[in-house]
Amino acid sequence: MDSIKNPKCVECGKETVERPTSLEYHGQEIHLFDPVVCRPCLLELCEKFSAPCANCDEPIPPFSMVGVLKADGGEKQIVHMTERCQTVGSAFHGYWGKGELRKFLEIEAC
Ligand SMILES: [Zn+2]
Ligand SMILES: [Zn+2]
Repeated sequence: MDSIKNPKCVECGKETVERPTSLEYHGQEIHLFDPVVCRPCLLELCEKFSAPCANCDEPIPPFSMVGVLKADGGEKQIVHMTERCQTVGSAFHGYWGKGELRKFLEIEAC
């Protein structure tokens, strides 16, 4: 049964044994299924692309869901998707990718 190959890390091209890739970064657990990134690369991506949470100032690692706030200047600020950091005013959520927001969605108020 060697027909199933380990997926390759999209960053360095090495096969990754671990899937999802799990990493603890600043007290936050990351479990990454997609894209396939090995642990050393994931740590590097976290250091490069994490963004500060507008609420608690702790870094938000890439590849995680975030709450999005609109700042006064029209700039977007992102916060952790946690009860502690998500304020009542945040009407948006998105997916924080490699240094940019992806899958930016407006949550319908109901
Ligand atoms: Zn890698
Ligand atoms: Zn936070």
